[in-house]
Amino acid sequence: MTDRQRRAAIEGWYTLEKDQPHLLGSRCVACGTFFFPKLSTFCRNPVCDSTAFESVPLSRTGRLWSYTSASYQPPEPYVAAVPFVPFAIAAVTLEHEKMTVLGQVVEGCGVDQLQVGMQMELVVETLHQTEALDVVVWKWRPLGALTGSAS
Ligand SMILES: [Zn+2]
Repeated sequence: MTDRQRRAAIEGWYTLEKDQPHLLGSRCVACGTFFFPKLSTFCRNPVCDSTAFESVPLSRTGRLWSYTSASYQPPEPYVAAVPFVPFAIAAVTLEHEKMTVLGQVVEGCGVDQLQVGMQMELVVETLHQTEALDVVVWKWRPLGALTGSAS
């Protein structure tokens, strides 16, 4: 048995572990502000003029801040499956980083299963497959969803 290769739909934005993948962000070395996607030009903190960043893995879990149902093809660089199927988009606030990260919600989880304030965790899911590759993208999944808990 050979493991299928996994490749990120957007290189360098996230790690590819099956368990515990991380988004990859930037942290300003001067003021400590986190950014996602990564920054490489200048700090967006208006009172900071740093141009030095370190690449850091971001928290894997956060709180659902807002969500919506996307019934249209999302703009670049967000990537959707082809043919397009409607999906939910979640805005999840990472407490430690004090930032909100948008992402698709995992397949099979619709807006009726989402509730503002619930804990969400980061996963990577296959977006599409080629003969040798699984092309994966990060998504948000309600924490504990695998156990079927409805709380
Ligand atoms: Zn800064």
